[in-house]
Amino acid sequence: MGALTPPAGRDAPLPAWLAAGERPADRPRFDTVVVRGNGVGALVCAARLARSESLRGRVRVAAPLPTESRRLVNGCTLRARSLDYYAGALGCDADVLTDALFGERRRVAETWAQRFSVAREEASGFRLGPLPVWMGEGAREPVLAYGLRNGHLTARLAERVQALGVAFDDDLPETLEACLARAPGKTPLVVNGSHLPVGDLPKPPAPDRFVVASQLALRRRDDAPLPAHHSAFVMRRREGGFDTGVFYPFVDPLTPAADFYGIFFRIVRPGEGFVKADAIAPMRHTVEGVGHALGLEPVDAEETRGEAMVPCLPWSDVTTPRADWLDLHRTYSACTPIITGDGMTRAGLAGWVAAEAVLAGEDPVPVTNRSLRIWRRANRGLAWVMTHPGLLEGLLRRFGGPIMKRANGLPDMWAPVG
Ligand SMILES: Cc1cc2nc3c(=O)[nH]c(=O)nc-3n(C[C@H](O)[C@H](O)[C@H](O)COP(=O)(O)OP(=O)(O)OC[C@H]3O[C@@H](n4cnc5c(N)ncnc54)[C@H](O)[C@@H]3O)c2cc1C
Repeated sequence: MGALTPPAGRDAPLPAWLAAGERPADRPRFDTVVVRGNGVGALVCAARLARSESLRGRVRVAAPLPTESRRLVNGCTLRARSLDYYAGALGCDADVLTDALFGERRRVAETWAQRFSVAREEASGFRLGPLPVWMGEGAREPVLAYGLRNGHLTARLAERVQALGVAFDDDLPETLEACLARAPGKTPLVVNGSHLPVGDLPKPPAPDRFVVASQLALRRRDDAPLPAHHSAFVMRRREGGFDTGVFYPFVDPLTPAADFYGIFFRIVRPGEGFVKADAIAPMRHTVEGVGHALGLEPVDAEETRGEAMVPCLPWSDVTTPRADWLDLHRTYSACTPIITGDGMTRAGLAGWVAAEAVLAGEDPVPVTNRSLRIWRRANRGLAWVMTHPGLLEGLLRRFGGPIMKRANGLPDMWAPVG
């Protein structure tokens, strides 16, 4: 596991007691935990709780085991630091976990540097501006990110959670009452790791902003302008905003021909006459067109393409109406999803930190919110840029590399602690 002593950089807001040797003895206020959901946050949280002396055998996942398909549903860019958080919760070495996820093709999935460009569409297709490196040095260490299919990650995490003696249910309970009824103890905590709300708690306000996205598996041509192990971050100005895309080295055992994946996304405010399919279609067109310009061609597009329209949540801290209900999913999903490629990082960080707080007998809500603030700030910054193209297109086209370098603020948001 990556060292946390002393917590610094992106980990500065983490509780001091997470630093090596300062962890208090277990004194949880709950005798059982029901984790509702089977995503990254739910599984990481369940793993840490199930590994503890105090709650071993008393953790249940109220959701079915994740199922896998070739379609790229949910996140594919796994910031390398995420693996440290998962390993912290699972009590294993991050390197061992990485090997288990990627096997012999681990190296293919590695991103060593990121380039930036602004694209324009012309009659002959998409044209890229300069493509400078803005993140990483291009050497193997430190690896910035790994590309994988989210369903592969959750399936492997679920296997590890099961191996810790945690039972999974066949369905997702629709109410808090139904979750509590599944708890074998007298003082249960329900951790919500699903985006679906429960029917017997106040409904969260309806979102007015969404992110639309289209992503698919790709293969790099021999003559690709994008070097192996480099990812690309590309913006395209269109209709008062930036369509934004990323392309990363990627490995998926279900699509072995692919060695990259790409995604384009945009923040939308649906008004009168909004048609979801019409908002997603340009994302599909642009991810394939810009991918081609980078030297990346689709692999089984009809089977690997995943498209989504997901709600944006507030940037502020998330509270909970009851002490026995922790809405972990809402806490780590706060902000504009997808755009900063950190959803799986935040889910792992929040799942791990919340579990540690529960075990330490602390209120997990403020601790978890605090640990996510730097990530939320970065997300808010990019969302602002994507929705205020103004003079930015010209500036980014000419000085994209140095501007991105400067805007990156914390240099350690991607790589593990070395
Ligand atoms: C198209 C897409 C691309 C993404 N790309 C990345 C990436 O590259 N890197 C990364 O770290 N994270 C990415 N994310 C986010 C990441 O998948 C999740 O944040 C992460 O998996 C943690 O969620 P979970 O697995 O715990 O829960 P899950 O319940 O599996 O959540 C998965 C996703 O569902 C979304 N969601 C929430 N509400 C709804 C709703 N009402 N309808 C449909 N979906 C909803 C969430 O925003 C979340 O993104 C992406 C998400 C999507 C949808």
